Amino acid sequence: MGRKEKTANEQPLSMKPYKIGDGGTVCFPRKSAVDTGKPGWKLTKCPFCGAECWETPMARGLIAKDPTLRGACTMCALSGKYGKGVKA
Ligand SMILES: [Zn+2]
Repeated sequence: MGRKEKTANEQPLSMKPYKIGDGGTVCFPRKSAVDTGKPGWKLTKCPFCGAECWETPMARGLIAKDPTLRGACTMCALSGKYGKGVKA
């Protein structure tokens, strides 16, 4: 019988699945990037830079489930200045 391959350090460093309570900032697509919203998208303003952006149903669902999350435009969410950027 061969030796057992150990896979103890199998934790990926990046791309960890988001867990409730992790906190962070959910990306809202900016209106300047996506001019026409899709059904269910709600035009809102980024709380940090004031840019118009779309609150998508996916993002809304994540925030509803996890009060430690908040939404912001993609630029602010991915800047890292407001916590980890979370893709909805
Ligand atoms: Zn912003």
